[in-house]
Amino acid sequence: MSRRLVVDPIACDGRGVCAELLPGVVTLDDWGYPVVDGRPLPPELLAEVRRAVRLCPTLALRLERLAPGQDSSSSARSAALRTP
Ligand code: SF4
Repeated sequence: MSRRLVVDPIACDGRGVCAELLPGVVTLDDWGYPVVDGRPLPPELLAEVRRAVRLCPTLALRLERLAPGQDSSSSARSAALRTP
């Protein structure tokens, strides 16, 4: 089952640890708060994403399971993230 990364904007304090750990998954907005696109994560990134979830100082990150049918773009994203 695919998963996606979700940020709790209330809990997040915008220090940007997640963007440093996951540069291909998290970007920062103009105020330094994380932006995630909510798309399914490629399986090869899950270990790194779990690490970022553990290291978030305010517990604002979580991995969310996607229902069947919501994960059709994970292979396309995986290919896009591998492109230099
Ligand atoms: S690591 Fe956690 S607190 Fe820091 S910017 Fe990311 S979500 Fe917010």
